[in-house]
Amino acid sequence: MTTSTETKMSEKVTTFLARKHGLFIDGDWLPAVSGKVFDSFDPGTGRVIAQVPEGDAEDIDLAVKAARRAFEDGPWGRMTPSERGRLLFNLADLVEENAEELAELEVLDNGKPLSNARAADVPLCADMFRYMGGWATKITGETLSISTPGEYHAFTLREPVGVVGQIIPWNAPLLILSWKVAPALAAGCTVVLKPAEQTPLTALRFGELAQEAGIPKGVINIITGFGETAGAAIAAHPDIDKVSFTGSSEVGRIIVKAAAGNLKRVSLELGGKSPVIVLPDADLSAAIPGIARGIFHNSGQVCTAGSRLYAHRNVFDEIVDGIVQQAGQITVGHGLEDGSQMGPLISPVQCERVMGYIGQGRDAGASIATGGARLDRDGNFIEPTVLVDTRPEMSVVQEEIFGPVLCVMRFDDDDLEQIAKQANDTIFGLAGSVWTQNISAAHKLVRRIRAGRIGVNTHGSVDATLPTGGFKQSGWGREKGHDGLNLYTEVKSVIVSL
Ligand code: NAD
Repeated sequence: MTTSTETKMSEKVTTFLARKHGLFIDGDWLPAVSGKVFDSFDPGTGRVIAQVPEGDAEDIDLAVKAARRAFEDGPWGRMTPSERGRLLFNLADLVEENAEELAELEVLDNGKPLSNARAADVPLCADMFRYMGGWATKITGETLSISTPGEYHAFTLREPVGVVGQIIPWNAPLLILSWKVAPALAAGCTVVLKPAEQTPLTALRFGELAQEAGIPKGVINIITGFGETAGAAIAAHPDIDKVSFTGSSEVGRIIVKAAAGNLKRVSLELGGKSPVIVLPDADLSAAIPGIARGIFHNSGQVCTAGSRLYAHRNVFDEIVDGIVQQAGQITVGHGLEDGSQMGPLISPVQCERVMGYIGQGRDAGASIATGGARLDRDGNFIEPTVLVDTRPEMSVVQEEIFGPVLCVMRFDDDDLEQIAKQANDTIFGLAGSVWTQNISAAHKLVRRIRAGRIGVNTHGSVDATLPTGGFKQSGWGREKGHDGLNLYTEVKSVIVSL
């Protein structure tokens, strides 16, 4: 199998992987100050595919100094919004021109099927740069009618928040990079980005594209490294004005504490345990494949994955049978294998974690309707899994598994308040979906579910225009859309006595 994936790698990717990689600081590619490097693995084979520098606090400090210079003195702050916007459009074009290479790198580093990286991660990354490039020329304040006696002209300005630290996870590395870098640049900020240690490669290739696009030196700095060192240095750095973090709720709490030192602005996109509600009148021919995609896409390693299914008793059996059938038809394999529809989990640790949850569910009385086992091959593969007979208090229902595991529960009454109560019964509030033909019931549930994104007859979308983020312990702030841009601006009130 290893040979078959190697032969599928393009020459460009093979050359990139073999290269001596650097940290991207102030427009230069530098080794880590410590001289250390670490391995990046292919989760589909377990093999080392590249080595990258292990940046830590000293490298973060150099990057912050470069970002500060670029923000205060560099050409960035003096560029017109349309010039900034044009650079973002250049970046979008370059992402598209190098789409195949980026997609392949993402597959090798993260494991996802090539078809997914081609159809979603890479084009959506380009979309995000184009969408935010458009906003660069449309950042405005307001004119205010004030009641202070006298004659005044009062208005607000929206200004860039400054130097931004960005820490991202491994589940959609290039796409989540775009959700962070594009709005920050559109707003006029400069950036120090740390990709996840499991998936550093597309960020490094992106740094090269940023140079090619003409982004001035110091505006984007990319430090590969670990969370406890490089990530922690970003969160605590006294000269970073804002930190934007996507990852687990557990690390989110650590970030908040570290950021308190200089009271930097914080936005957080954290974990989820999103409910999926199927009412008795739902169109099951759409619901069944939609719900299966909602949990098994990216091997369930999606923060908004629909991982808790609540099905009305009248449709429960048909839904479970349908999803079990869908799960059985999914081709699980290395992301570069022809026809692969679901890749491996990111790491052996993540595999253990997911298998641990499946075991806990079984021990607590859940039954496995399908899946539940590792695949007998190299790499971190787990079968698409459906658990039934699950109850609200079980850990598999309460905690984020971040794997291809769906928990199914039945509800018997038609009381929407009760259904919403069950849907809201976790610490998370990231997303959800409602499947029904009843427009009134759909809208009532949309209002009652406490989550940042709800789909009706779809589990959702990651369109650049749709703000996404969490209620409750799923985060602070909304990424993407106009709200995502506003995360990178400060409002300044101006009052002029006439
Ligand atoms: P994680 O929290 O372990 O790591 C995320 C990032 O934080 C990595 O870059 C890591 O190096 C860094 N990090 C780890 N410890 C740190 C520390 N002490 N200080 C600073 N940085 C640190 O999460 P993960 O396992 O990489 O990703 C999975 C999690 O991300 C899931 O909980 C998932 O729901 C969440 N996620 C959320 C969204 C969203 O939009 N809400 C999107 C994708 C993933």
